[in-house]
Amino acid sequence: MSRLTYTADMADESKAKQAAGRIVEHLCEHPGCKVWGGFGYMPSKAVPPRWWCWEHYPYQQPGSTR
Ligand SMILES: [Zn+2]
Repeated sequence: MSRLTYTADMADESKAKQAAGRIVEHLCEHPGCKVWGGFGYMPSKAVPPRWWCWEHYPYQQPGSTR
């Protein structure tokens, strides 16, 4: 496995960011889409993750539409 995927279950990370006094917002990066990007893709730990809503998430896997 060379990639990590995240679902919307980011509660712990949100708390950590609030504790640091800085909330990082990551909306879907699809042009014109203002939906919260709950699905991230990070090819390596050295690269900042990119975020999309489920509808635009380019790494959807067949059979996992939830
Ligand atoms: Zn979107």
